[in-house]
Amino acid sequence: MRTVGGEAPHRRAVVTGGAGFLGSHLCEELLRRGWAVVCLDNFLTGATTNIAEFLQHPRFELAHCDVTENAHVRGPVDLVLHFASPASPVDYLEMPIETLRVGSVGTERALALARDKHARFVLASTSEVYGDPQVHPQPEDYWGHVNPIGPRGVYDEAKRYAEALVTAYRATYGVDTGIVRIFNTYGPRMRPADGRAIPTFVRQALAGEPVTVSGDGSQTRSVCFVDDLIEGVLALADSDLAGPVNIGNPWEMTVLQIAQDVLAATGSTSHIEFVDRPVDDPGVRRPDTTLARTQLGWEPTVSWQEGLQRTVAWFAEELSRSA
Ligand code: NAD
Repeated sequence: MRTVGGEAPHRRAVVTGGAGFLGSHLCEELLRRGWAVVCLDNFLTGATTNIAEFLQHPRFELAHCDVTENAHVRGPVDLVLHFASPASPVDYLEMPIETLRVGSVGTERALALARDKHARFVLASTSEVYGDPQVHPQPEDYWGHVNPIGPRGVYDEAKRYAEALVTAYRATYGVDTGIVRIFNTYGPRMRPADGRAIPTFVRQALAGEPVTVSGDGSQTRSVCFVDDLIEGVLALADSDLAGPVNIGNPWEMTVLQIAQDVLAATGSTSHIEFVDRPVDDPGVRRPDTTLARTQLGWEPTVSWQEGLQRTVAWFAEELSRSA
């Protein structure tokens, strides 16, 4: 069995989208575990600041490239983690074609790399494949409720296509593949203006601006701290499971509760302002994590209070640096 644990020096992983929020945490954790890491990124939504700490690391390589054009890597590769894709609604609504292309052509190039190198391949899929779900919580065998021509379709359908492509590469070419369906994740290195609820609320609260909750805030989200998510992704990489496997925190909260907790954690005197709900915004969202628990022995361990404190501390420092 492949080992992502600390006792495997110099195994080599390729992380597409490695300069993004999740990708940079994956690179960091893989380096900590003794891996050599190649980060492929075109900086569409990523940033060099995310990987600045390990740019000089002897086992870290950065290749500035668009994986829809090219995903060639010289030398042996043991693991390909395909994380390249705009991920926040603001980003994929602004970049619909790029999103569809990286989910389709980009996924195929990353799969071809894994096939060529006889590497394990893990696709970062998303809870958005469940759309606005009619089954709650969402188990992996729920097929979802997605509007292909709604504004979010560019992201949801790109990921659904990517899952189908991964499944076809496994069946047709015998590539050792895994699919992780990631639920909302938060933590340091999110961009303050990426439009996702937690960074938006934290940024607004720290700036003393109104905290904008969409609708009446009764829609729910289940949010996972980034360290827990990375553990789950690497547990899947370390297994031979095909998945899909949900990785996320099953603790469900209303968006209004999230906003109130952000106000408390920042000590802000901002007030909450209710704004229009985005089109096709899911009403509920909670992973059924039975599979991850029983097959991977994975469970989130960081409480919402602790994760939020760590996130607020990081944002406060970031925002004061850029002020
Ligand atoms: P992010 O925007 O911070 O990172 C995405 C990275 O991919 C960026 O560095 C970007 O520059 C890079 N990228 C985009 N297109 C590329 C291309 N054509 N070639 C090379 N690099 C490219 O987003 P994130 O939150 O870190 O998400 C990473 C992955 O996880 C995505 O695939 C996303 O769909 C998935 N995901 C994330 C979440 C979450 O809560 N963060 C939830 C579900 C799924």
